[in-house]
Amino acid sequence: MPMKHADNWLVTSKDEKRGYIQPQLLHEFWFHTGTSCNLRCPFCLEGSKPGDDRLQFITLDDAIRFIDEAVALGVNKFSFTGGEPFVNPHFTEILDYALNFKPCLVLTNATEPLMNQFARVKEFNSKPHPLNFRISLDHPDPAKHDESRGKGNFKKALDTLGRLYHAGFGVSIARLMPAGENSIAVDRAYEPFFRQAGVPLDITIIKFPEFYKPGSLPEVPEITEDCMTRYLSESQRDGFMCNYSKMIVKQNGQCGVYACTLVDDDADYNLGNTLNQAITERVRLKHHRCYSCFAFGASCSEGGCEDAKEEGQASA
Ligand code: SF4
Repeated sequence: MPMKHADNWLVTSKDEKRGYIQPQLLHEFWFHTGTSCNLRCPFCLEGSKPGDDRLQFITLDDAIRFIDEAVALGVNKFSFTGGEPFVNPHFTEILDYALNFKPCLVLTNATEPLMNQFARVKEFNSKPHPLNFRISLDHPDPAKHDESRGKGNFKKALDTLGRLYHAGFGVSIARLMPAGENSIAVDRAYEPFFRQAGVPLDITIIKFPEFYKPGSLPEVPEITEDCMTRYLSESQRDGFMCNYSKMIVKQNGQCGVYACTLVDDDADYNLGNTLNQAITERVRLKHHRCYSCFAFGASCSEGGCEDAKEEGQASA
């Protein structure tokens, strides 16, 4: 049965048809491990902090059902975000299970929760599929990073980046992207730190524009059907995460399949209780974060859906 949406799902405030993405692939499948985090960063996209349960911890049983369903649907990789995934007491067993089937990516602040479980993490090197980590290093200035994340946390994250790389795992970083920055210069400012950590200077850097906190209602232009074809090419539309990924979120004891990793605070983006139900649902670009995708091409993904297309994965 199709999910019920609010009246403004289909039309804008001016009664024009809303822009949409018709999902074509299940390339990446994400798990939100829960909004609890050991840190309390004021800019957090998720509003995460110690003990937060806006989104609850997923358990191994929750994850197994969706991992099995995604594998049957031909998914290419699993990704995990939080909160801090390593704060979730079930996380290492979930990762252990997922690595039996597909490559995995973990987004982490790379501080105590991961550092304290490093011996367990190293064992994942012997799993059938590779494990990659994306570490948050907000600014190439340790003092600025520590202003929000706490004193000494830039150094901890940088040290963990190096340790993970030398233990044989893939690594990348995520950073903030203030409006109007010189992106090439900011990326290059990380090089001395990459040298210090002993990682390649050309590791992937994922940049995030201002997304505002969950529940925020910033005023952004509305996206109509006409905007989607007038201003974007077909390949640009294909690059939207909601075209090729989905994310599991747990709230009030129930798991739901959300349209992408960027929106988990609007029930309209809960597309169903099973992947089979969710993958065919048309995604309307109603949320303010959809405007960031439209205007800046924002994405949590590395490499987008190109790999899946090259492998000739069937449309979902
Ligand atoms: S935030 Fe971006 S990826 Fe998510 S539903 Fe909106 S347009 Fe799609």
